[in-house]
Amino acid sequence: MPADNLFYITNGVALSAVLFSLYIAYSMRTVYRLRQAKARVEYEQRQLNAILSSMGEGIVVVDLKVNVLLMNQAAGALLRMAPADGIGKNITSLMNLAVKGERRDLYAILHDFVGTVDIIRAGVGDGYVVTRHDGREFPVSFVVTPFFDNRVVIGAIIVFSDITREVEIDRAKDEFVSFASHQLRTPLGSMRWNIEMFLDGALGRLTKEGKQAFADMHESVQFLIGLVNKLLDISRIEEGRVIDAPAAVDVPDMLNGIIKRVWGEAEQRNVTLHVEKRGGKNFPPVWVDPDRFEDVLSNLISNGIKYNRPGGTVIITLERRDKELMIAISDTGIGIPQEDRSRVFSKFYRASNASDGSVKGTGLGLFMVKLYIEKSHGKISYESELGKGTTFFITMPLFLGTMSAVTAPEKSKR
Ligand code: ADP
Repeated sequence: MPADNLFYITNGVALSAVLFSLYIAYSMRTVYRLRQAKARVEYEQRQLNAILSSMGEGIVVVDLKVNVLLMNQAAGALLRMAPADGIGKNITSLMNLAVKGERRDLYAILHDFVGTVDIIRAGVGDGYVVTRHDGREFPVSFVVTPFFDNRVVIGAIIVFSDITREVEIDRAKDEFVSFASHQLRTPLGSMRWNIEMFLDGALGRLTKEGKQAFADMHESVQFLIGLVNKLLDISRIEEGRVIDAPAAVDVPDMLNGIIKRVWGEAEQRNVTLHVEKRGGKNFPPVWVDPDRFEDVLSNLISNGIKYNRPGGTVIITLERRDKELMIAISDTGIGIPQEDRSRVFSKFYRASNASDGSVKGTGLGLFMVKLYIEKSHGKISYESELGKGTTFFITMPLFLGTMSAVTAPEKSKR
């Protein structure tokens, strides 16, 4: 064999050996890196599992078809099942959900939630109850948070808890408030009566200072009587002891009456009131209990005046939208803080910018407004900007003659 051939062969073998060892080294490094990545993923998975298992709340992660992707220990304990058995199953086969006694398909409820970009919360007072696969029930609070892949919603994380104890405490609190209100009614009535006798001069002459002191006392007692009456009213509604007497109500007509009554207060606060009708002057009536609906509108208009600024306005807009009437009550006042959004319609809510003492209030009006509107198949929402103003929107189904068969039952006990 010629020497240069031998040279080429030897060099070729040496080069192959070098390339082969480089390839081996590269593969080993890749294997090493993959092992490292796997160990890291396993460590993170263990860490995540440890966090999820140690959490007291039940956590279930579902995809868009509400099939379970992940379930933690607490969720398994709440649903009385091994978490691993839930994976891959449709959540509706593991539990069902009812709201305020009205059983709704969990799939439908979750479908309203899953796939939206909003975070949805329900707590004590929202009335959600879970029925487990073994038929047992418990009241539940939950937060549904969407999760994303490349900004597209691909599922939801449901965090939930059994709130049996909280619901019991809430019921006990309501019972106490109702009992206390009953007990306070008579003595407060008697105080008012006696104060009025002093103010009328029936119990002797008062000095100027004495008269002022009694007038202040009278105002406070009136406020307390109003508060007690509202609390009793709420207990009656919540216990289902109020029977509404719905009738066909002409809203513009009702608004005229309310505006006449609040005109004095608006003038005192230098606030102007306007009514605007969109899409015609006449509207079909709405089917509501006239007294209760008047309370609703009065409350929102009166709030628009109370929480306004001198020189401000309250505009009430009426607009027919197909089979509904939209009523918007818009003011140029102090606004409602954004962070209070979830509490605005709760009992005793008063915003920090309203509770400084300059405007008296009980924090019960909006709670009652929402309670009644929803009971009457209407909807309520609001928009607000701090320091600029607030608009409350009510939409009510119009009475188009189809409810005429409904006979008005006994008048509500008020
Ligand atoms: P009240 O007015 O007796 O306190 P409401 O239930 O009617 O009770 O209102 C609850 C709270 O919501 C008020 O205390 C106030 O903080 C806020 N609020 C209601 N309406 C308005 C409004 N139009 N503008 C600003 N804040 C409002």
